[in-house]
Amino acid sequence: MNTLKAVRGARDILLEEAEDWSYIEGLARRVLQNYHYREIRTPIFEETDLFVRSIGETSDIVTKQMYTFLDRKGRSITLRPEGTAPVVRAYLEHNLQREGSTTKLFYIGPFFRSERPQAGRGRQFHQIGAEAIGSSDPALDVECISVLLHLFRELELAGVKVRLNSVGCKGCQPKYKEVLLQYLRSKLTSLCSDCRARLERNPLRALDCKKEECRSITHDAPALTGHLCHSCSEHFGEVQAHLDNLKIPYSLDPHLVRGLDYYTRTAFEVTHPDLGAQNALAAGGRFDELIAQMGGNPTPAVGFAAGLERIILAKGGKLTTPSQELIIYLAPAGEKAHRQAVKLLHQLRSRGIRSEMDYEERSLKSQLRLANRLKAKYVAIIGEKEVRKKIVSVKDMTCGGQEEIALNDVVGVVAQKEASVCQIPHRS
Ligand SMILES: [Zn+2]
Ligand SMILES: [Zn+2]
Repeated sequence: MNTLKAVRGARDILLEEAEDWSYIEGLARRVLQNYHYREIRTPIFEETDLFVRSIGETSDIVTKQMYTFLDRKGRSITLRPEGTAPVVRAYLEHNLQREGSTTKLFYIGPFFRSERPQAGRGRQFHQIGAEAIGSSDPALDVECISVLLHLFRELELAGVKVRLNSVGCKGCQPKYKEVLLQYLRSKLTSLCSDCRARLERNPLRALDCKKEECRSITHDAPALTGHLCHSCSEHFGEVQAHLDNLKIPYSLDPHLVRGLDYYTRTAFEVTHPDLGAQNALAAGGRFDELIAQMGGNPTPAVGFAAGLERIILAKGGKLTTPSQELIIYLAPAGEKAHRQAVKLLHQLRSRGIRSEMDYEERSLKSQLRLANRLKAKYVAIIGEKEVRKKIVSVKDMTCGGQEEIALNDVVGVVAQKEASVCQIPHRS
């Protein structure tokens, strides 16, 4: 029989690694809640139309990366390739707009794109994202950047950098596209086949192309920022003024565009030096047209998404996740002792003390060996003598010392010992 394996580009996240993930997710939740974002969980699949209409028909995502299939009734379904469109769909479907206020939502979860698996990016990948819907205030654009920097600071990720641009609005972007188109047409034969094919429909894509031949051409392309309308230019200026005011360092990148059609005005990336060519830890920007485009009232919005795999890669496995090691391991010998151990275990766990026992009738000696392997701090031995005297012999596995504790006092004594070790143990 063939051994079954996870599908290429999808993988299992195991044990310590999964604990690191939970730790980062928990931290992200706390940081985002601190900035008054609230959690939203949308389904992992949606009608295909949602993504085609929002992300744009010329995008790489829609043309070649979506996991799209017909369900049993022949409806076209797509595994979500990104988070913004589903959040906006939910926002409109459930009327989440708040009277006179901004709706601020965040999500954490898996996304799916059929692209060549690379370091830090599988076909199932995971993002932490947030959207602030309802205001065009440049302070919110800056809030998105600062919440990300806050999270990366909490994770002790050194060397992150912010790159910033404005991609204009539906007033000024088309004029820039004309200028860019003219420039690119003059270099047509040197562009990659993808860029040539989509050039007329969306020349901005060429700026985002990672192919060497295109990068050398777009390097000298006219900059978007020189073609912004008055109000976009003012907005961009305000974003920078806020960043300066908050002493957040950033660099302007006039060729930074996002790979999705719906972005307007602010576009940004937060990068990390250890991630190589695809060095973005997080990316985001404004999408002032998307909500109207999806059938809602014109509503400005801004957001970002950070890649969990990228964050983990950038950390290089140097996370200080709280230890999952056992506090106490119960080692009973004999039937009566076993019954007593089951009850004691129940009491310990009710008090929040991480504990385990032997379920395989091992000898006392091999139970002690196992407890050692499990790195339990204490072992509670319950043998014949202990049952008779209604006590438990508690062995401290660090110093080897042993004391007899009355059965009824064990939970209290262990809880007290644990409380006196005030710092949370860390895994290196
Ligand atoms: Zn504009
Ligand atoms: Zn290209």
